[in-house]
Amino acid sequence: MNCDEAAALLTAESDGEIDRLRSHAVRKHAAACSTCGPRLEALSEIGRELREQLPYHPAPAVLRARLMAEHAAPVARHGPVPARRRWFGSGVLAGGLVASLVWLTGTAWLQGGFGDDDLSTQLVGLHTRATLGNRLIEVASSDRHTVKPWLSARLDYAIPVADWASAGFPLAGARIDRLDRRPVATLVYRHRDHVIDVVVRPAATATPPAVHTVRGFNVAVAHGTEMEWLAASDLNGADLAAFVQGLAHGKVGVASE
Ligand SMILES: [Zn+2]
Repeated sequence: MNCDEAAALLTAESDGEIDRLRSHAVRKHAAACSTCGPRLEALSEIGRELREQLPYHPAPAVLRARLMAEHAAPVARHGPVPARRRWFGSGVLAGGLVASLVWLTGTAWLQGGFGDDDLSTQLVGLHTRATLGNRLIEVASSDRHTVKPWLSARLDYAIPVADWASAGFPLAGARIDRLDRRPVATLVYRHRDHVIDVVVRPAATATPPAVHTVRGFNVAVAHGTEMEWLAASDLNGADLAAFVQGLAHGKVGVASE
């Protein structure tokens, strides 16, 4: 394993997200490498601090009531059930409810919003981890002739790269992330005081444009030229959606904000 391969796995390793074999390879490389070793240690330290120091909030009563209603609903819809099954069913439901509440109480605020789809949560996760972990940019350049080959050398696909400084979105650089367990290209743009991460990956099917909000961050998705463009930022949803649509179609307009 070399530094590039290790770099792509350091955050996942610090979060305990990779299998044993690769975890061992990353640890072995980090132990012997003066660049990756301290980075892995710093990332692990951030994780520990977050777990130890972030406040834990009890689930609000409204949420508790909603969960009760949602868990109760299927039983009501299916009409009367025999007493034994009802007893068994309610036990399972109560167990599930307790598990849900424990999960929500413990990690909802740390891990991502409930009801948001997994992809948005992953995107916001990698956006915040990159910001917190100080690995926002691995190749710092506004020059597409630098960024594009850097990415191509590390991925099995090539993406269009453009600087949109003229529209108020200068390209700051790029990095490699992991999304759905695959290495992906992340372009980093700036807009005023906002950082915008844009993951670009090959897409088999056209993605309908969408905007989601997770933990106060907006995620906007667009599709163009066989690529899926997924942006995560604290920029407002409308401007983010317009920007990512523009990227996907090679024509970014000037933002309103
Ligand atoms: Zn290294």
